Amino acid sequence: MSTDRFDLAVVGAGLNGSLLALAAGDAGLRTALIDRVPLKSLTEAGFDGRTTAIAYTSQRLFAALGVWDAVAGDAEPIRDIRISDAGHDGRASPLHLHFDHREAAPDVHDPAPMGWIVENRFLRAALLQRLADCPKVELVAPDEVIETIRETDGAELTLKSGRRLPARLVASAEGRFGSMREDAGIGARSWSYGQIAIVLVAHHERPHRGVAQEKFLPGGPFAILPMTDEPARDGLAGAHRSSIVWTERADIARRLLELDAPRFQAEFTRRFGDHLGYAEPAGPRWSYPLGLIHADRYVDTRLVLVGDAAHGIHPIAGQGYNLGVRDVAALVEVLIDSKRLGLDIGAADTLERYAQWRRADNFAMVAATDLLNRLFSNDSKPLRLARDLGLAAVNRVPALRRFFVRHAMGLVGDLPKLVRGERP
Ligand SMILES: Cc1cc2nc3c(=O)[nH]c(=O)nc-3n(C[C@H](O)[C@H](O)[C@H](O)COP(=O)(O)OP(=O)(O)OC[C@H]3O[C@@H](n4cnc5c(N)ncnc54)[C@H](O)[C@@H]3O)c2cc1C
Repeated sequence: MSTDRFDLAVVGAGLNGSLLALAAGDAGLRTALIDRVPLKSLTEAGFDGRTTAIAYTSQRLFAALGVWDAVAGDAEPIRDIRISDAGHDGRASPLHLHFDHREAAPDVHDPAPMGWIVENRFLRAALLQRLADCPKVELVAPDEVIETIRETDGAELTLKSGRRLPARLVASAEGRFGSMREDAGIGARSWSYGQIAIVLVAHHERPHRGVAQEKFLPGGPFAILPMTDEPARDGLAGAHRSSIVWTERADIARRLLELDAPRFQAEFTRRFGDHLGYAEPAGPRWSYPLGLIHADRYVDTRLVLVGDAAHGIHPIAGQGYNLGVRDVAALVEVLIDSKRLGLDIGAADTLERYAQWRRADNFAMVAATDLLNRLFSNDSKPLRLARDLGLAAVNRVPALRRFFVRHAMGLVGDLPKLVRGERP
């Protein structure tokens, strides 16, 4: 193997891969970031219509890496979360669950929000902007990995362009449809939920006041996530906005997506309700098929899996990327600890430390989101009564509410330094 090699070759420049390359490069590792699509296209308005709920601890990592300032102006704080069951008419049950951000730190005068809602295109742009200024990172795109050789002393990627790229370690951040996991013989538990998430931006009459709403409708969860207001410009009035993640059975979602504007508006209104006054979809309708994938192992010889390449979950709790952020923080810390001791960063025991650190947290979220979706995307009357009573029961116990708020903020477990806001 060549000695002029990268410490780390990250395959995939999605939200996880670009964050990993930045955190690694920022910590002094010579890193290559490869993606098959031109990086500029990742930030175009037509590429990704989603927003992401950035948990409190993920925001600390973004701040520590100097990325947060570029997104802060477009990030809306999540102050409260309201969860309720709703029937076919979209009307919410009076038995509900309400989380207030102040519960995580009752003694603090002005506690931090539980998280922030940010449009993915802004997150991607901020990451790529910081990457472009990071001397330790080489951006290799558009290009594609066509062959990977991994041996005990190093790895080498062959790219479609013909370039050969030697590295001590390869990180697959290829997302849930990546091929490196399978090529390495790593199995996974995976299934489709038979659901599609319709994603859109809604404008509404009244302000959301930082409240994220999750309504459990018979077809699946309908989330109303607070976005920053759209300012008035070019003679057009401004608007209060929320991002909608509307989950339906796949066949119904496909029909909804094809409806003309008035009929789509009627279906939307039935689910959205009138708690924010008149509301209407604004801009394009996006769709994302939903499924679960969890790799049996996160590491192999000179290979680590990160983000959705290791675990892709249902967006019901808005935590999929936050898991990936914690993967990145743990991996970089483990690699830097090894490097400081003069050890091989791609050695099996280094990678095993990463895998052990991340397994329990990821597994708990995979299982919890799967269970929640099965329990709530269901129209059985006895089950609906049982879950309504469950929500109301949790709502009455402050210690339980605090437990869930701290989980949503990512404040639970053995946290890597970066998500504590420190450098590794
Ligand atoms: C509707 C919806 C809402 C969500 N909301 C939230 C939320 O509120 N909060 C949250 O935490 N999470 C949320 N998530 C989850 C989150 O979006 C994902 O976890 C995250 O985007 C995954 O990013 P990734 O970088 O791992 O993978 P991807 O985004 O899939 O990126 C993979 C990249 O790898 C590249 N690639 C793949 N193979 C190769 C190859 N061989 N060579 C070169 N390049 C390659 C691809 O081009 C791509 O750019 C949501 C998900 C959905 C579907």
